Amino acid sequence: MDILIVLEDNNGKIHRMGLESIAAAQKMANDLGLSMGALVMGKNGDALAEQASGFNVGEVIKVNNKLLSSYSSDGYAEAVKQVIEQENPTYVLFGHSYQVRDYAPRVSAKLMKPFLVDNVAMNTEGGNVVFTKQMFNAKLFSDITPVSDGPYLVSFQSAAFSSENAVSGSASVREATVNLDASMIKTESEEPFQEEAGGVDLTSAEIIVSIGRGIGKEENIPLAETLAQALGGELAASRPVVDAGWLPAAHQIGSSGQSVSPQMYLALGISGAIQHVVGMKGSKNIVAINKDPEAPIFEIADYGVVGDVLEIIPKLVESLKGD
Ligand SMILES: Cc1cc2nc3c(=O)[nH]c(=O)nc-3n(C[C@H](O)[C@H](O)[C@H](O)COP(=O)(O)OP(=O)(O)OC[C@H]3O[C@@H](n4cnc5c(N)ncnc54)[C@H](O)[C@@H]3O)c2cc1C
Repeated sequence: MDILIVLEDNNGKIHRMGLESIAAAQKMANDLGLSMGALVMGKNGDALAEQASGFNVGEVIKVNNKLLSSYSSDGYAEAVKQVIEQENPTYVLFGHSYQVRDYAPRVSAKLMKPFLVDNVAMNTEGGNVVFTKQMFNAKLFSDITPVSDGPYLVSFQSAAFSSENAVSGSASVREATVNLDASMIKTESEEPFQEEAGGVDLTSAEIIVSIGRGIGKEENIPLAETLAQALGGELAASRPVVDAGWLPAAHQIGSSGQSVSPQMYLALGISGAIQHVVGMKGSKNIVAINKDPEAPIFEIADYGVVGDVLEIIPKLVESLKGD
């Protein structure tokens, strides 16, 4: 096959970034006439294979091996390396998740093949694939066209592609065998990292209420929390809010925080600095409230309100509660 999509397990479901990788692979396959397949493994491999077979991914390759039942970078890197050697794909696509950051560089080193990391876009030009990544803190974009022999390992930043564009279909499931020995597994993982203290997962939130320095002071945070609750959404923040200690670091959106793509991102008192925007530009609808009409956030907002968040939030809460 030409493109191998490596799907990650998110508690028995395909990780959202895996769906985004499927959308990327489908675009490559359509534009360039390439074949594809999706790899699943781990203790939820059967459930993942069933879900993946509902997408137009060519075929699903399922690896069953008890040494992969819990995640280890040694085991996963060796398994993915062996599947690549068996299937000989030109492109191997990953979501740029924490897990992939942990083990995929080992795959690259084992194969002595390049790993093009954290791409924000991919285009096909003149029969070539062009990957785009950000450089110098997103001040510059760099286009990369691989020219040597594959396979090329490629990861995409969260929201580089929309999971909603993953086209469903019907794919067959095939089992593949990898040879692993317990002596190869030298690390043992702890419980998966919770991206969010308090059980909140911003990466899968449908509605995010995000506050910036414009919220003014820590005492105003409950106001924004009330709005988030009234909307059934999660609370997030720009970096100054986290740096000030008003919210835990897990709430930070941006280049040094989380990347999210909710249905609605409400930016309250956030200027729209590039380091923030890279983490939320994939949101389906962006609503910005800012007292400065020139604030850069309005350039990417679908809806903008020029005004004081401290006046507008209580009114929004009031109307949402129907008081
Ligand atoms: C290496 C590096 C990494 C970084 N990583 C991140 C990151 O991951 N995430 C991140 O967010 N930032 C990050 N930053 C910081 C980033 O550059 C900005 O400084 C930050 O995003 C600005 O946050 P802000 O918009 O809340 O604050 P400001 O830029 O200060 O903007 C505050 C906004 O609130 C408005 N405002 C003020 N009062 C009110 C009011 N009462 N009502 C309505 N509007 C009001 C103002 O008009 C202004 O537009 C990083 C910077 C560096 C150098």
